[in-house]
Amino acid sequence: LFDFKIILGKNGVPVAENFRLEQSTIADTIQAGQVRVKTLYLSVDPYMRCRMNEDTGSDYLQPWQVSEVADGGGVGVVEESKHDNLAKGDFVTSFTWPWQTVAILDGSLLQKLVPQLVNGRLSYFLGAAGITGLTALLGVREKGHVAVGANQTMVVSGAAGACGSLAGQIGRLEGCSRVVGIAGTDEKCSILVQEMGFDAAINYKKGNVAEQLRELCPGGVDVYFDNVGGDISDTVISQMNQNSHIILCGQISQYNKDVPYPPPLPPDIEKIQKERNITRERFLVLNYMDKHEASVLQLCQWIQEGKLKVRETVVEGLANIGAAFQSMMSGGNIGKQIVSVSK
Ligand code: NAP
Repeated sequence: LFDFKIILGKNGVPVAENFRLEQSTIADTIQAGQVRVKTLYLSVDPYMRCRMNEDTGSDYLQPWQVSEVADGGGVGVVEESKHDNLAKGDFVTSFTWPWQTVAILDGSLLQKLVPQLVNGRLSYFLGAAGITGLTALLGVREKGHVAVGANQTMVVSGAAGACGSLAGQIGRLEGCSRVVGIAGTDEKCSILVQEMGFDAAINYKKGNVAEQLRELCPGGVDVYFDNVGGDISDTVISQMNQNSHIILCGQISQYNKDVPYPPPLPPDIEKIQKERNITRERFLVLNYMDKHEASVLQLCQWIQEGKLKVRETVVEGLANIGAAFQSMMSGGNIGKQIVSVSK
């Protein structure tokens, strides 16, 4: 059995060396209510950067403890069960899956998965058919004010990432007439346009973003799905229309800095936001648990119909999870970053 121990850093850029692989043993027997699971896939996500700080900045996130096993979204298979509703061979998931190859878990904390919903692609339950897909769908529906026939232009930052790539496609499915992405490489931009149906994409590391945005969104921006914050968002907000809407999904450009969440806008941008009556409400997917089940079914239906294109970047082996986290935080992924732990 392998697991991960972490060494916390208060600020700064997370690196693979923040994580340590150790071998240890688990109990031979399981208690009533427990299951022994084999880990198949683990998720690495931007919010984990906040869990590396002593104060995560959010009451719903607990800090990871130094030399304790890290945890996050995971999918696995039940190998032995003493829980009434779970049997050997069931596929299960949890938001608090320990970063171990094998684990003994409380069965009541696990959700049973239906592999047919994703044509057997179980890792999708950590991405397009899991929290990531829900974030994109519920973000658009709850905060986007997207309406069929309203001729809205949507801009997505972090557009080639897990949430962003889905959010743009969902914006289109829900009625936006124009969808423009902002991402960090030419390859990402061409995938967005050629594969994911975005009308255009801007590589923010090249050229002038404000100029390109003005050209690509001549009627201004009506809906902004914001994954990144910082300069990119200030540029987009400057080109937003009267009574438009920001979907405040995340602010990854600020996660390595010691700032409150959501970080306040610079005064000149805040002035624009107020004057143009642009909504910028905090959005948290966990606040809509009552809508998760129906929304997952919607996402799975779109995936099966080919209306939602899904990309993953898969790293093999628990030993590489720290590197996978570091890579995702610095743009190494296209679509959802997944760690494949065992087959
Ligand atoms: P992701 O987008 O798949 O991966 C992170 C991406 O962020 C990287 O690939 C990188 O792509 C981009 N990035 C990193 N540093 C950046 C910077 N300084 N400026 C601009 N882009 C940067 O991750 P995800 O899981 O889908 O999460 C996306 C956002 O959604 C995050 O902000 C996350 O916190 C948020 N989120 C919110 C909720 C919620 O309930 N509100 C739930 C889940 C996730 P580039 O190559 O384009 O730089």
